[in-house]
Amino acid sequence: MTHEMTALKALSARVGADPLLVQAAGGNTSLKQDGVMWIKASGTWLQHAKERDIFVPVAIAPLLKALERDDPACESCTDFVRGDLNSLGLRPSIETTVHASFAHKVVLHVHCIETISWAVREDAEARLQEKLAGFDWAFVPYRRPGLPLAKEIRLRLKPETNVLVLGNHGLVVAADTVAEAERLLERAVQAVVKPARRPVSPDTAALAELAQGTRYVPSPDAIVQSLAFDAQSLAQARKGTLYPDHIVFLGAGISVAEEGEAPARAAERIGRAGRPEPKLIVVPGKGVLLPADATPAMHAMARCLADVGLRLTQAEPVRVLTLDEELALVNWDAEKYRQSLPPA
Ligand SMILES: [Zn+2]
Repeated sequence: MTHEMTALKALSARVGADPLLVQAAGGNTSLKQDGVMWIKASGTWLQHAKERDIFVPVAIAPLLKALERDDPACESCTDFVRGDLNSLGLRPSIETTVHASFAHKVVLHVHCIETISWAVREDAEARLQEKLAGFDWAFVPYRRPGLPLAKEIRLRLKPETNVLVLGNHGLVVAADTVAEAERLLERAVQAVVKPARRPVSPDTAALAELAQGTRYVPSPDAIVQSLAFDAQSLAQARKGTLYPDHIVFLGAGISVAEEGEAPARAAERIGRAGRPEPKLIVVPGKGVLLPADATPAMHAMARCLADVGLRLTQAEPVRVLTLDEELALVNWDAEKYRQSLPPA
């Protein structure tokens, strides 16, 4: 293994272990060498980069040619995997084309909380221009990860661009060495740090009682609990889905129990309407519930939402994903889902 690959694995593990940069299997890193791009495999976690093989080799030249002709093979990129080097049979990240669009050798893509808390604003580009004026950066409006996002990036990318903010999504930095990429990531994150309110640490004993006999339990994370006690976070979170990984792991937006409504009743009410069973239930003033069998990824995504929420004020103009954008991310029956929605 080359020195740079060793360095990338170490950096990936560090970045992946920071919940303010990466949550669960989100985010990805890559290194280009000898015509091959090593990119994080789909579904693997960056924080495991040192102890597990999480990188997949992709042949760069055919992928770039396919991107130029908008070939649907660029959605999964599996056609471009170098089978001779891919002993574990891993599949490349859905965001492989984001990395391939850069000529730089090293690309880091993170779901940075500070960046996301700007990138969900309707006026994200103008506000970020104030923060990132000293960078060669570009803003990319929200597009579905895969070919649509890659196309939008290629429209906006100039040869010198090495920082991208993806609307309702995250941050990308690119450099020619791992060390330079790490420094650029630190500088970019520092430039967009947003003041965060302190999470209140509530007593969730009353909530545990309310949830008795249901399949839900209080989240053990004090920051997640802040969603139920911080009125500004809750006001923004209940507007809808802020970024793609939220809907993939926790369903659309959040479910909020009505005044005096038991959590079990809230879950039933939403289920009856034909919508997917809620995974995150907020009982305002009492706490946040997650399914008792919630996966580590669900816990991480709940924490992500709470971390973003603590950086948003109620007055900020937040843009949530549209219904069509949500449907493009999940396999729900589009028509059933549409009909289940309350009249606008
Ligand atoms: Zn992403």
